[in-house]
Amino acid sequence: METKKKDIRALTKEQLRDFFVKEGDQAFRGNQVYEWLWSKGAHTFEDMTNISKETRQMLESNFVINHIHVDTMQKSNDGTIKNAVRLHDGLIVESVLIPTKTRTTACVSSQVGCSLDCRFCATSRLKRMRNLNPDEIFDQVVAIDKESRLYYDKPLSNIVFMGMGEPLMNYNNVLKAIDKITSDEGLGMSPKRIVVSTSGVPKMIKKMADDEVKFKLAVSLHSAIDKVRTSIMPFNETFPLADLREALEYWYAKTKNRITYEYVVWKDINDKKKDVDALIAFCKFAPSKVNLIEYNPIDDGEFQQANSEAIDMYVSMLEANNITVTVRRSRGKDIDAACGQLANKS
Ligand code: SAH
Repeated sequence: METKKKDIRALTKEQLRDFFVKEGDQAFRGNQVYEWLWSKGAHTFEDMTNISKETRQMLESNFVINHIHVDTMQKSNDGTIKNAVRLHDGLIVESVLIPTKTRTTACVSSQVGCSLDCRFCATSRLKRMRNLNPDEIFDQVVAIDKESRLYYDKPLSNIVFMGMGEPLMNYNNVLKAIDKITSDEGLGMSPKRIVVSTSGVPKMIKKMADDEVKFKLAVSLHSAIDKVRTSIMPFNETFPLADLREALEYWYAKTKNRITYEYVVWKDINDKKKDVDALIAFCKFAPSKVNLIEYNPIDDGEFQQANSEAIDMYVSMLEANNITVTVRRSRGKDIDAACGQLANKS
């Protein structure tokens, strides 16, 4: 039986340096290999051309590089690209490239499936299979950056953790991935261009504040009334709005970062004045921005996008209360690449 080799990218730079010293080599060999793994994008040990053949073979017999493979790439009429990404164990996640005139954004997954149960989201129908490792998150970003350069002639400018999964339920790995994405030894991207989107796990929002993270936070709120929110996001029963609000106050007190809320307005669910009143009351404690996102249908019509009068009411009432509001059109709907549509259909 083959012994299980370790994923070399699970090692820190220090651990790699120590490994080489133990092998009777020099510590700086660890730096070289680390550079191949994280900034030069080596897929195999063979790629590491400034490392001797002997050393490469030695690495080969001890480790694997669990690189992702983009199985299929679909391109939408609006230029959005969706990758079906195969992981080393055969599981699939999806990531999306969203180009606009001024930026290209990668939407990446943090888990295979999702343990949350948002009733309007296609991913919630896949059970959570496992967390992604830091290198699997990192690889999705690298793949999209390549596609951005190839098809749109510019590097990736932004990243949103709005693909499959709940990033705060895979917090440590998400943090490690962001560390590689932002460090000069990785991709050197600014953390200000990264948004982590959460359904709202209060304890983890506080942890983020304590960790003084530099990326931005978005909260998928969808309703500021407990009864309504629980009916569409059942886990709200476990993490009610009062707890979420308290965690966000803590976050704001520590970081002074504006909070973004994602919000879909559905017909007969949250399209009345009382819903907007509750939203305004909920976000008053800190500078806030509300993104009204278009609903991307995933089902038999149980959920329907509210009419434009309801959206207009939200916009004018929020603006009157000095809350920044944007109305976001969806992208990539024709290839099931829009928010909430990632469900490995292909
Ligand atoms: N679990 C995280 C990130 C993944 S979802 C979170 O909840 O934030 C990314 C965003 O897409 C969230 O704001 C989510 O509420 C939204 N979304 C999910 N399904 C959707 C759908 N069918 N139409 C529009 N937005 C949807």
